[in-house]
Amino acid sequence: MRYSQFFLPTLKEVPAEAEIASHILMLRAGMIRKLASGLYTYLPLGLRALRKVEDIIRDEMNKAGAQELLMPVVQPAELWKESGRWDHYGNELLRIKDRHGRDFCLGPTHEEVITDLIRKHIRSYRDLPLNLYQIQTKFRDEIRPRFGIMRAREFIMKDAYSFSIDEASLDQIYQAMYKAYCNIFDRCGLDFRPVEADTGSIGGHASHEFMVLAETGEDAIACCTKCNFAANTELAPVKAQEDGLEFLSGNEELRTVETPGKKTVEEVTEFLDKKAKQLLKTLLFIADNRPVAVLMRGDHELNEVKLKNVLGAQSLEMADAETVERLTKAPVGFAGPVGLSSEVKVIGDIAISKMQDFVTGANKKDTHFTGVNWKRDVPPPKLFDLRVITEKDPCPRCGGEIEIKRGIEVGHIFKLGTKYSETMGATFLDAKGREKPIIMGCYGIGVGRTVAAAIEQNHDEKGIVFPKPIAPFDVIISVINIKDKEMMNTAEKIYSELKQKGMEVLLDDRKERPGVKFKDAELIGIPQRITIGKKLKQKGVVELTIRKTGEITEVQADKILSKLRPGA
Ligand code: ATP
Ligand code: MG
Repeated sequence: MRYSQFFLPTLKEVPAEAEIASHILMLRAGMIRKLASGLYTYLPLGLRALRKVEDIIRDEMNKAGAQELLMPVVQPAELWKESGRWDHYGNELLRIKDRHGRDFCLGPTHEEVITDLIRKHIRSYRDLPLNLYQIQTKFRDEIRPRFGIMRAREFIMKDAYSFSIDEASLDQIYQAMYKAYCNIFDRCGLDFRPVEADTGSIGGHASHEFMVLAETGEDAIACCTKCNFAANTELAPVKAQEDGLEFLSGNEELRTVETPGKKTVEEVTEFLDKKAKQLLKTLLFIADNRPVAVLMRGDHELNEVKLKNVLGAQSLEMADAETVERLTKAPVGFAGPVGLSSEVKVIGDIAISKMQDFVTGANKKDTHFTGVNWKRDVPPPKLFDLRVITEKDPCPRCGGEIEIKRGIEVGHIFKLGTKYSETMGATFLDAKGREKPIIMGCYGIGVGRTVAAAIEQNHDEKGIVFPKPIAPFDVIISVINIKDKEMMNTAEKIYSELKQKGMEVLLDDRKERPGVKFKDAELIGIPQRITIGKKLKQKGVVELTIRKTGEITEVQADKILSKLRPGA
């Protein structure tokens, strides 16, 4: 490709809309452009990198025995009603109507469509197992699209779905996918970690996320420094305190104290000269239209994913101010379990059983209680593990030390079990002629997000440093003076020979100053650069620069071919 003809609009300035390195660099390097919130165009350079990742994914999926198909983006509402997700998927599902007024949605994922396909065609255990995948556009009306293609509304995903006759076969495919994912992310040059994950709205009973380690990642991962435990903090269990679930009780008297305008844990504890861990906070939620109070130690953070799972709730929201006033008869900030409306279901985090002589809101404006104790003042609630793990907690597996790291989720694999096959009637006849639900798994990779994550992890102050296998070009040739015949002839010769060798080459034949050419070459991050300049005349050499290390070597112009290798 000749740079002079290539559509590659690079930017010198940092675009105002971008906050993180990958987003800034993808805009500056002319890889993507924004159309509207969460909607992006891939420009030719960006598309080349995206295709490289797709090729690697295809290769590993095919090797692992999966077969590619392609399903529609537009999906009929009936299928989503059958699975029950039309009502439960929430606002991320973009619902549309056709000219006949029939309901459809833009597919955020494809379990329904593929289960429908399979139930129509699979009859016998002899037809299974199957693992089918596609690389295709998804739409999710994300509440907060950000970081460019990292969290977009329209994005490209590889999604695979497996169908098995028993758990053993599902295990086998799950393991094959786990391995394929490791190969894919290795080949993309990523420093990643598979971690145990929550199964979210897709449901199921085992799941791993593939996390690319990066400071800017949206997910927090708890990793043990001793054993191989690693889990999303959404899921990571907190080990129950040493002495079980028995409630302690102290001997202070229950007192009512005035706390004018003191609402937050900090304000109340500072005012009463107590520690945050001596305060019992009462958090009010609406879960599937029912009020729930969650009791937590003041210094602990509630894990809403755990709460949702414990309640088995489809929807969960913090109660609004009006609801809090109705339930507690007090403004927000003074809720407590003593004398709370019986309409409210009360549950607590395990750690609260060890609290005694604590402080709580008194369900009255500007008022708290001190010296509160279980049983005497508050009936002990049912306890669950409800808090977010921290570095102060021991590893739930081996008791070792926990480190919290940030990660970008690039892939996610689930054992779905029979969730969709049962609701949608996808069955097979086993060897004895008995009808059974098919056992499913699903396996996703964010293709665009993988490109962005690779840039997030591979860049420096000059620009992108593409890992070789996903670089949009293998080599860039920078010609210092295109008017110089000898330089240009040598460049053309090397360009065509490299192409013949099967390498992807960008020939910078623009009428630009050398400084501009070097800056652009560094910004777009092509792994190897051949500079053809004055040294050609002086000593017959060209310079080979490695983008990653900055290392420069002089090479005889006619020997350069043997020094270069394609990326993949
Ligand atoms: P997240 O927690 O980041 O929203 P998810 O759990 O909703 O992800 P899955 O439904 O498991 O994601 O989708 C599979 C993969 O698709 C994810 O691992 C991620 O790489 C990618 N992905 C999901 N949402 C987006 C998005 N809005 N933009 C780009 N890629 C996405
Ligand atoms: Mg999501």
